[in-house]
Amino acid sequence: MKVIVVGSSHGGYETVQGILADQPDTEIQWYEKGDFISFLSCGMQLYLEGLVKDVNSVRYETPENAQAHGVHVFVQQEITAVDATAHTVTVHDLAADTTRTETYDKLVLSVGAVPANLPVPGTELDNVYAMRGRDWAIKLKAKTVDPSVKNVVVIGAGYIGVEAAEVFAKAGKHVTLVDMIARPLGLYLDEEFTDILADTFKANDIYIATGQSVQSFDGQDGHVVSVTTDQATYPADLVISAAGIRANTDWLADTLSLDDHGLINVDEYLQTSQSDIYAVGDATLVPYAPTGDKNRIALATVARRQGRIAAKNVLNHAVKMPAVSGASALSVYDYHFASVGVKTGTAKALGLETASVFVTDTVQPPFVDAAAGNVPVYFKLTYAPTDGRILGAQIMSKRDVTANINAISLAIQGKMTLDDLAYADFFFQPGFDRPWNIMNIAAQQALQQQ
Ligand code: FAD
Repeated sequence: MKVIVVGSSHGGYETVQGILADQPDTEIQWYEKGDFISFLSCGMQLYLEGLVKDVNSVRYETPENAQAHGVHVFVQQEITAVDATAHTVTVHDLAADTTRTETYDKLVLSVGAVPANLPVPGTELDNVYAMRGRDWAIKLKAKTVDPSVKNVVVIGAGYIGVEAAEVFAKAGKHVTLVDMIARPLGLYLDEEFTDILADTFKANDIYIATGQSVQSFDGQDGHVVSVTTDQATYPADLVISAAGIRANTDWLADTLSLDDHGLINVDEYLQTSQSDIYAVGDATLVPYAPTGDKNRIALATVARRQGRIAAKNVLNHAVKMPAVSGASALSVYDYHFASVGVKTGTAKALGLETASVFVTDTVQPPFVDAAAGNVPVYFKLTYAPTDGRILGAQIMSKRDVTANINAISLAIQGKMTLDDLAYADFFFQPGFDRPWNIMNIAAQQALQQQ
C-alpha cells in the first residue's frame, strides 16, 4: 500500500509514526512545502528565551532518521491539487519549479494553518511579524537582541500572544498587548484568574490594551511605527500578529467538504468527504467532549491524537477519534495555569448554561510554611446545573499543579458528575498536596451549592 502524508508538523509526524509502528513495510511518501521538516512551534518560546539554543533542534524528526525507517521524505515540495477519483496528487517541486503527478492508495492531509492576516491597512509593512514556524522563529530571535526595537505591540492576547509578550518583555522591550476581547487569555481563563495575572503583566512592563480593535498598522518609509486601535495609538518598532489562524485549505475547496471557516469536515474515523482521504490537525473540526458537537481546537495534542487514529484507519483498523476537551497549560512568569473544557467566558458562545465554584486553598497543609513552597492555589470547576455533569476547570498557582487538569479532562470525557468527583480517590502526601485534593473540595462545594 502507498500512503501519501502531507505536512510535517504534529499531525503529519504522528501519522507517519503510527503507520511505521503498525505496518513498517507500508510505502510512505511524506511531503513538506517548507525547507525543514517537523518544526514545533510549541517550542518557540523556549528557543526565543534562550532555554533551547539551536532552532534546528526544535523538532521531533529529521529527514535522515525518517529515511532510515524507509520513509520517502520530500521537502520544498507542495501538494497543489488532489484528484480523488484518480487517486492522484499534483506535486510542485518548489526548488526546481517543476510539477509531477503521484498516485496514492490513501492520502492523509495535515496541512495545518497559517497566522490570520488582520483586515486592516499596513499588514504589508516591514517589521509586522507572526509567531508560527521556523522562519518566523529565526526572525523573531533576531529582534529580541535588536537595540533599535524598543516598543513591541503584540496583537492577540491568547496563549501565543502572551508567549510573545513575555519573550520581548524579558528581552527588555516595552510591550503592549492588544486584543478585542476584554481580558488577556480570556478564552482560557475566567476573570478570577486574569485579575490575578493583571498585576503580573503590570509588574513586568506589559501594558494590557484589551477591549480594543485594531484599525491600522501605521508606517514610515515602509516600516511599521505604530498601531492604531479604536481607542489609542501605540508606538511600535515591531508588531507581532497573533490574532488567530487560517486553515491552509483554499486549494482543497473544490475537492473536499469544508466548513465556513475552511476547516475540513471529517467523520469519526477522520475520513474526509472523499474516500481514502483523511485529514488531521489544525485544519479540521474535532469532536468536543463537553458538548458532543464539533469544535475548532488548534492544539498539538489534538493533532497528535488524530494522527495516530488516522494511521490506524489508513491501515483499515476502523478506530474512532475520541472527543477532546482542549486541555492546555501555560506559564505567565511565576504563575502556571491550565484549563480544560468550558469556562464561564466561553459557555455562552457554546450555547450552554453552566454553574461554577471558585476555590482558593494552599497547595499543602497549613503547617507547611510559604517559604517552603506552600503557596496559594486557585481552582474553578464548571458544571451543568441540571445534572451536575463536569464541563470544565481551570487551575493556577505559583507551584506547578497544572497536571490536575488532566484528571478533569478525563472526567469530562467520561461524562462524570459532581458526585463522582466529590469523593474521588486522589493521593495525599504533605510534601505535595492536602488530604482533600482541591478538585474534591470544589466538587463538594458545588454539591452544596446545587
Ligand atoms: P501545522 O503545524 O500548521 O503544520 C502544517 C505543515 O504542513 C506545515 O509545515 C506546512 O508547511 C505544511 N503544508 C501545508 N500545506 C501543504 C501542502 N499543500 N503541501 C506540502 N506541505 C504543506 N499546541 C499545544 O498542544 N501545546 C503547546 O504548547 C502549543 N504551543 C504553541 C505555540 C505556538 C507559538 C504556536 C504557533 C502553536 C502552538 N501550539 C501548541 C499549537 C500547535 O503548534 C498546532 O496545533 C500544531 O502545530 C498543528 O499541527 P498540524 O500538523 O495540524 O499543522
